[in-house]
Amino acid sequence: MIEIISESKCIECNMCVSVCPTNVFDKTANGIPVIARQSDCQTCFMCELYCPADALFVDPNPEPQSKLDEAELERQGVIGGYRAVVGWAVNKKKSVS
Ligand code: SF4
Ligand code: SF4
Repeated sequence: MIEIISESKCIECNMCVSVCPTNVFDKTANGIPVIARQSDCQTCFMCELYCPADALFVDPNPEPQSKLDEAELERQGVIGGYRAVVGWAVNKKKSVS
């Protein structure tokens, strides 16, 4: 389920708003979209794949998580990391084990 929009990484392109098949995001006046309808998320990863700034994190767990730590996820290199997993981008922070 979509969990995080990183405000420090988002470049306000609204690509996530456009590609989400279930209209989870809303545009905002300040430019950074909001997760407006999280429960409508289908965990399809499309938003994370298309985000050019690696600013989104979709958790593989389809249930909402309450204790995710953005800083820790960033340290792990998993915010936006799905793009690298499927070969859409090179995520230099992602470790391969
Ligand atoms: S994972 Fe899919 S359904 Fe969920 S917010 Fe992203 S694009 Fe929308
Ligand atoms: S696709 Fe990424 S950079 Fe663009 S608005 Fe959405 S979160 Fe921000």
